[in-house]
Amino acid sequence: MRLASTPEHLDVLIVGAGLSGIGAAHHLQRQRPRERYAILEARATLGGTWDLFRYPGIRSDSDMHTLGYRFRPWVEQKAIADGDSILRYVRETAREAGIDEKIRFDRRVVAASWSSAEALWTVTAGSGDGEHETLTCGFLWMCSGYYRYDQGYTPEFPGIDGFGGEVIHPQHWPEDAGYAGKRVVVIGSGATAVTLVPALAADAAKVTMLQRSPSYVVSVPGEDAIANRLRRAIGERRAYSVVRWKNVALQSLFYRLSRRRPRLMRNVIRRGVVRALPPGYDVDTHFEPRYNPWDQRVCLVPDADLFTALGEGSAEIVTDRIKSFDQGGIELESGRRLDADVVVTATGLNLQFLGGASLTIDGEETDLSHAYTYKGMMLSGVPNCAFTLGYTNASWTLKADLVAEYTCRLLDHMEAGGYDVCAPEVSDPALGEEPLLDFTSGYVLRSIAELPKQGSKEPWKLRQNYPVDLRSLRHGPVDDQMRFGRAADQAINSSETAQSRSALAGSSA
Ligand SMILES: Cc1cc2nc3c(=O)[nH]c(=O)nc-3n(C[C@H](O)[C@H](O)[C@H](O)COP(=O)(O)OP(=O)(O)OC[C@H]3O[C@@H](n4cnc5c(N)ncnc54)[C@H](O)[C@@H]3O)c2cc1C
Repeated sequence: MRLASTPEHLDVLIVGAGLSGIGAAHHLQRQRPRERYAILEARATLGGTWDLFRYPGIRSDSDMHTLGYRFRPWVEQKAIADGDSILRYVRETAREAGIDEKIRFDRRVVAASWSSAEALWTVTAGSGDGEHETLTCGFLWMCSGYYRYDQGYTPEFPGIDGFGGEVIHPQHWPEDAGYAGKRVVVIGSGATAVTLVPALAADAAKVTMLQRSPSYVVSVPGEDAIANRLRRAIGERRAYSVVRWKNVALQSLFYRLSRRRPRLMRNVIRRGVVRALPPGYDVDTHFEPRYNPWDQRVCLVPDADLFTALGEGSAEIVTDRIKSFDQGGIELESGRRLDADVVVTATGLNLQFLGGASLTIDGEETDLSHAYTYKGMMLSGVPNCAFTLGYTNASWTLKADLVAEYTCRLLDHMEAGGYDVCAPEVSDPALGEEPLLDFTSGYVLRSIAELPKQGSKEPWKLRQNYPVDLRSLRHGPVDDQMRFGRAADQAINSSETAQSRSALAGSSA
C-alpha cells in the first residue's frame, strides 16, 4: 500500500494539453495501452494556443490536412481553419479517446529532477492557489509549446504610456475590445498582423498596418477543392492521407525552391502580390522584404483577404518606423503621423523552452544551452525525457506525430530490453555546433542563445524536413548514440555520463 507521503508514480508524464500533448497521449494510449500516464496542464482548459489566442480572425496559417493529426482526418470544408474549429477538433480528439480524463488542470510544472539511482524524475507542479504537488515518473514528455503564455513580446515604444487610446496585445485580446467604427493601427508584419488586418477592417473605421519592414505574403485558397472532392469520392480517411501527402510535397517544394532558387521564388511571390492588388499599388515598398523567402516564416493569407481589404481601402499598409506615441496616435520617423483610437501590438512572442521548467540531473541544475538536440526531440545527457516541437517551415503536427511515434517505439525498446534508462550521448568529438534555428525572425534572434544547439551531423542535426524525419523517426533505429541502462547498472554512472552532466551544468569537465 502507498504511504500518504509517497508521491504518486506514473510511467509517463506529459506536460501540456495543447495540440501536441493531446496527440502524444493519443499515440501513447494506442501503442502502449497499459502505460500509466497523466497530463499536467498549467491552464484551466485544454487546447493551448488555440484556446489562448482569441483575437478577431484567428486562424491557422498552414493547411489543416497537415496541421491535423495523422490519426484523425480533418473533414471540414475549410483547409485554412478558424481558431474555434481547430480548438473543437483538439477537444473532440481528447474527449473521444478519454484523454480529457487524464488531464490535471491548473498544474504548472516548475521543476523536474532526475535521479540516476532510482531512474525516475521527481516533478514539482504549482497551482494558482500557491499549492505545490510532487509526482514521480519514469519518462517525462514535454509538450509545453515554445512561447510564454503570460506575456507576449512588446518592444519599448517611446511615449506609449501617454497614448490616450487602448493598447492591445493579440495574445491577451479582451473579450470586450471595442474597435467598431474606430481607427485602429496594427503594429507588425507577421502572421498575426496579416490575419488581424482584414478581420478588423470589416468593422473598424480604418485599419492601418504599420510595419518596420515588409514580409513575404502569399495567398492560398481557403478551401482545398481537391480535398473536398476526394472526400466524397474515396472516403474521409483515404482522401485525408492523399491530401496530406499532396500538401507535404507542395510545402516541401516551395521551401526547397525558396532556399535553392531565392531569386526565382522572390519573383513568383511578387507576381502573386501584384496580381492581387490594384494597378499602381506600391508593392516595392510594402511587399519586397530585404531577406530571402523562408529566412523568416512566409505569411499565408486565405483567398487574398488582406489584399482585398487593401484594394478596397478599408485597410492600409504603412512601412515606416515609430518615432514616438502621443495622446492621439503615433508619430513616424518620416514625419507622417497616424491618428489612432486603438493600437494593436502584433509584435510577437517570447520564446520559452520546456515550459520554463528547470531541470536538475542528480542534483546538478542543467543549462540547456549547452545541450545538443537529438533528432529534434531529446537532449544530450538528459535521460528519459522527450520534447515535442513542430516544424518552423511546415505544419507543426507533422513533426509532433513523428515525435510521438518515436517515443512510443523508444519505450517499447526499453521494455523489451528490460531497460529503465535511455539517454542520448554525443560520442563524436568532431561534432560541430550550430544554432537550433536558422531563422532571422526577431523572436528567434532574441532567444537563440538560451536554446539548446544542434549538431553538425545526424542524429544531432535538426532536419526541418518531413520525409527525412519520417524515415528516421518512424523507421530508423532507436539505439543510435543512445545509451540504455538499468537504475542499478554501473554503466549509468560511467565517466561519459559524468562528463555530459558537467557539460550541461556549464562546467569544463
Ligand atoms: C497565433 C498562432 C498561430 C499558429 N498557427 C499555426 C499554424 O497555422 N500552423 C502551424 O503549424 N503552427 C502554428 N502555430 C504554432 C502552434 O503553436 C502549433 O501549431 C501548436 O498549436 C502547438 O501546440 P503545442 O501543444 O505544442 O503547444 P501549445 O499550443 O503552446 O500548448 C502548450 C500547452 O502546454 C501548457 N504548458 C506550458 N508550459 C507548461 C508547464 N510548465 N506546465 C504545465 N503546462 C504547461 C500550456 O498551458 C499549453 O496548454 C501557431 C502559433 C500561434 C501562436
